[in-house]
Amino acid sequence: MRWLSRLKESVDREGSGDGENQHTRSVLDRVRRNDQPPIKSPPMQIDGRCMSAQEFVRYIEGLDMPQPLPIRFFLHHTWIPTRESWKGHNTLLAMKRHYERQLWRDSQGRLREGWTVGPHLFVADDGIWLFSDIHYDGVGVYGHNHLSRHLEIVGNYNDELPKGETLRNTIVALGVLHEKLGLDIANLHFHRDFSSKSCPGWAIQKSWIIPQVQRWIQEYRASRQPQVPPVDELASLRAALERLVAELTVDPDLESTLTSAAEQRGLVGPLTQQIPVEIDEQGYMVQFFVEALLAPSHQQDEVLSLGEFERAHEAEEDGSPEGDEQDPKEDGKASSKRSLLSQRVKAPPHDHHEFTGRIR
Ligand SMILES: [Zn+2]
Repeated sequence: MRWLSRLKESVDREGSGDGENQHTRSVLDRVRRNDQPPIKSPPMQIDGRCMSAQEFVRYIEGLDMPQPLPIRFFLHHTWIPTRESWKGHNTLLAMKRHYERQLWRDSQGRLREGWTVGPHLFVADDGIWLFSDIHYDGVGVYGHNHLSRHLEIVGNYNDELPKGETLRNTIVALGVLHEKLGLDIANLHFHRDFSSKSCPGWAIQKSWIIPQVQRWIQEYRASRQPQVPPVDELASLRAALERLVAELTVDPDLESTLTSAAEQRGLVGPLTQQIPVEIDEQGYMVQFFVEALLAPSHQQDEVLSLGEFERAHEAEEDGSPEGDEQDPKEDGKASSKRSLLSQRVKAPPHDHHEFTGRIR
């Protein structure tokens, strides 16, 4: 009866006075009486990666979470392992082996040995460790695992508070997950809400942890707003970009419909003079322009053209939402912007390609 002695070992090692160990003991007693071997579950699959807080934020931002989305997070502490006994990946494997020895009864009352999933994250000083797949439900609170995710702070927090990197990693992990899933951190659950355990430790109170995560979420939201610099920085941005492409751009013709349209669109400058072309018996005036697309280097999915960038700033200055259509001739800011391009208008109209077609 190898499984019986393993079970006894695990109960003895973890000591008594813990609700779930008492539950395990009573299961053990019943098993002894009936001598009915449990059905062994397949080995638990774990992720095993360790991420820095920054890596974890990028990882969660990129996740495609399947429906139905989780509705709550549970905060736990490991109690054992303690901060001192935590050995990263080795401890993670020991936790996996521990969970694979747990006895439980399925919905049909059959005795089973081994959880197939456990908590999702173990947070320690050395990083955020990925355990059970964050895409799916795990196991952490008896009877409350459906649509739940579980985060374990490594250590025993009955008499002291988490601090240092452990605390910082916990705040970031809770913050980015609540933000990603549209959940309110004010509704954070503790294991002890549904158990006689102290978990996540008597020292940790919701009034202590929740405001810290709320502050992180505010900073995170602010960092994701497009950063619009003041108007003089915008002018120097445009000037710098125009200098960068100076070799590509040509001096524009005198103001024409196309040049004005390009200015209004905030394009950087003309690549060609106006060229008359005829396509399928339709005549056109064509002029190619340079468009600059910009994305902050730390936020490369926030792409704006230079013109959009400037208009976003104007909208912000006006206190009006973006897309406020104004006649640029009556708009002082827009005309100062126009002047940057207009300053370069020097030459009279010069047509390299004599146009003999007909513009319909
Ligand atoms: Zn717990």
